[in-house]
Amino acid sequence: MDKRKVRQYEARLTEQRNTLLGMVERTEDYGREADRDVSQDPADKASNSYTKELLFSQSTNERNTLRLIEEALDRITEGVFGECVNCGQDIQAKRLDAIPWTPHCIKCQEQMEQGLLIEKEV
Ligand SMILES: [Zn+2]
Repeated sequence: MDKRKVRQYEARLTEQRNTLLGMVERTEDYGREADRDVSQDPADKASNSYTKELLFSQSTNERNTLRLIEEALDRITEGVFGECVNCGQDIQAKRLDAIPWTPHCIKCQEQMEQGLLIEKEV
């Protein structure tokens, strides 16, 4: 991939990473506050634990995306950004534009969604 293009993706990925890092931090602060704010009212308690659950699933998503972004930035450093980590083919530009941190080409992604491909731990 041409270097200028890689720099553009790198800038987008870095920006996205900073946004997500900020969100994860805020979520954690909020979770701690909800903990401190223990009320005796059972309805409050229920809504508190619901909020925490929601926050937790949200932050799990954010953390997953963060991990993918970090890995994409690593691939930039290694000079293999834009190649599918599974089959080594170039990832379609349209796909990279939509999700610059994707590690897989569309074909492998589809296989993975069908459970045909086991994600390798790198
Ligand atoms: Zn592939």
